[in-house]
Amino acid sequence: MTKLVVTPANVAQRDAWAGGAIPEVERVRPGLWSVPVPIPVNPLRYVLVYVLELPDGVAIIDAGWNTDEAYDALVAGLAVAGYAITDVKGVLVTHIHPDHYGLAGRVREMSGAWIALHPADARLVRERYDDAAIDSLVERERELLRRCGVPELTLDELAGASMMIRHVVTMAKPDRLVEDGDELGLPGWDLRAVWTPGHSPGHLCFVSPARRVLFSGDHVLAKITPIVAVHPQSGPNPLADYLDSLAAVRKLDVEEVLPAHEYRFLELAERVDTVMAHHDERLAEIERVVGSLDGAACWDLATRLTWSRPWETIPPFMRRAANNETLAHLAWLEARGRVRRVAGEQDLWFPA
Ligand SMILES: [Zn+2]
Ligand SMILES: [Zn+2]
Repeated sequence: MTKLVVTPANVAQRDAWAGGAIPEVERVRPGLWSVPVPIPVNPLRYVLVYVLELPDGVAIIDAGWNTDEAYDALVAGLAVAGYAITDVKGVLVTHIHPDHYGLAGRVREMSGAWIALHPADARLVRERYDDAAIDSLVERERELLRRCGVPELTLDELAGASMMIRHVVTMAKPDRLVEDGDELGLPGWDLRAVWTPGHSPGHLCFVSPARRVLFSGDHVLAKITPIVAVHPQSGPNPLADYLDSLAAVRKLDVEEVLPAHEYRFLELAERVDTVMAHHDERLAEIERVVGSLDGAACWDLATRLTWSRPWETIPPFMRRAANNETLAHLAWLEARGRVRRVAGEQDLWFPA
């Protein structure tokens, strides 16, 4: 596959990303700012929070993690744009992952801003971030991994692998539910929501037809592809959702993509095509490996695939993601009749 390298919209921002640094707070265009908010111990390093100027303050797209460092960076970024945290009128959250949603509650506390989320993600908030509900989620993750053939000894470690990051989220119920096609009604902005399930069930992008920009969250990024995985809170076939969502944004007439990580770029349609081709290749590889074995569990298949580094060196948290991502591809192939699942103590996968 020829890999298209997208054109960065701002070379300095791309260079900062490539050089392992945090880019500058910058004015993207009149009335619109980009504020990098650092993420602790994560290779993504920062979330790009977008600040949209309104007649009486600002709205922000995504918020960052709930750490003091992130909060201070957000406040400092707003100050560069000429605003205080109390000027924030609304927080549009692309999806419930901690790096996007974690700080939203604190921003609301300080400013009285509303928080907007898609209902499909709003539904998951309590189970994911409330201490009283979390045990059942871990138990369901454990059961899913067991059916994938994860060895007994590794199960506990993997099932609880995301517990350590829960403190970077304040559980905040949204004030506004935003559905596909909703106009946000921000004065001076023709912002419309595009529901893009896949990476998370309620992922939202926001498009401004007049400014011809797409705020893409984690849905489409310049270099990396977002994790699309089966897990207890995903739908049964999240990869089908994701590929449909890619087709939905590919149609949009925009000149610039403003993602939540890495750097902003041009050529949305070409980038979408590259990501789709990546999943096609992955599906073909998995179908091949299933075909070479006579019934294998998902975990066994995952250990035989090509990853960015040798399987033995992948840490537990990422192995779980790798397993659940493999399962998403298997579920997609199963729905198309290209592989067959035989359910049992462990689900085994056979060639169709
Ligand atoms: Zn995410
Ligand atoms: Zn993210």
